Amino acid sequence: MDVSRLQVKPLSGESDWPLWRYKFKFVLNYHADTLEVVEGKLQKPSQPHEGANEATLEKYKKDLMCYKKANTCAMMVLTNSMTEETMQKIIRFENGREVWLELHKLFEVHMEVLIPNNPIEVNLVTSDDSLLQLYYERWGHQDKRHMKSLLNHELNIQVNIQDELCEACIYGKAHRLSFGSRNNCSSHGELIFADVCGPFDKSFRRFQYFVVFKDQFTKFRYVFFLKQKSDVASALQEFLAYATNLDHIAKEVIGANREEFDKKEVRMFLKKKGVVERFTAPYTPEQNGGSEREIGLLLKWPEY
Ligand SMILES: [Zn+2]
Repeated sequence: MDVSRLQVKPLSGESDWPLWRYKFKFVLNYHADTLEVVEGKLQKPSQPHEGANEATLEKYKKDLMCYKKANTCAMMVLTNSMTEETMQKIIRFENGREVWLELHKLFEVHMEVLIPNNPIEVNLVTSDDSLLQLYYERWGHQDKRHMKSLLNHELNIQVNIQDELCEACIYGKAHRLSFGSRNNCSSHGELIFADVCGPFDKSFRRFQYFVVFKDQFTKFRYVFFLKQKSDVASALQEFLAYATNLDHIAKEVIGANREEFDKKEVRMFLKKKGVVERFTAPYTPEQNGGSEREIGLLLKWPEY
């Protein structure tokens, strides 16, 4: 029989230890006395005391030779059947029995049954629905029907859709209701949007802001540059004076809800002119769409 065929896959750790041990016993058994050496049945003979007779000495020598041969053989097959990493762990031992015991110590799983005094509560999640929810959340709240088919095809997990509603999704995907469409104006000055933009870096003439007035009917825009926000009032006066001069009557001004338009000075002036002043609600720039769009355009133009 070819001895090389007796080779087992090198022992690398506790994962392959049970199989390795099982196979390796046959290898040891194949060689004379090696299994006995590792199992401790064949031990190194103890040296006879001085003055022992010739026959005893002879027997000792014979036994020692037999043991040495078997031990060397055991060490050879052992070290040839383990990875270098495993060998590092047993390198300090010189006989097969010690190596065998050390391997058991290293890789044998010791289990002990512990019976606790108090009953232990264990919570297990087994419901299909929770598994679907888990994967649904991990995959960024995708459609549950999509998740179901994904789990089925990719992971071979069968789940049932119990509830398609997800509170987080309802909140997260909610939209604002439409503002509806504004009634179209029929004459100049009927509705004027106004908004201030800035501050920017100071210009050569120390302007830092600009205010836009836009007529809803003609889409005509007027831009005034301001040194400070409070100059809005004078810009508005100037704008209305200019409009009046052109025979246009301003009826309503919509200003962004900012402190620059909501000033006593501005209010009084508009009141005198009979112009209605309105403000947009906070965080709803859509209400002041006319001038917001203008500002967007004005800021974009220098880039072209
Ligand atoms: Zn969701």
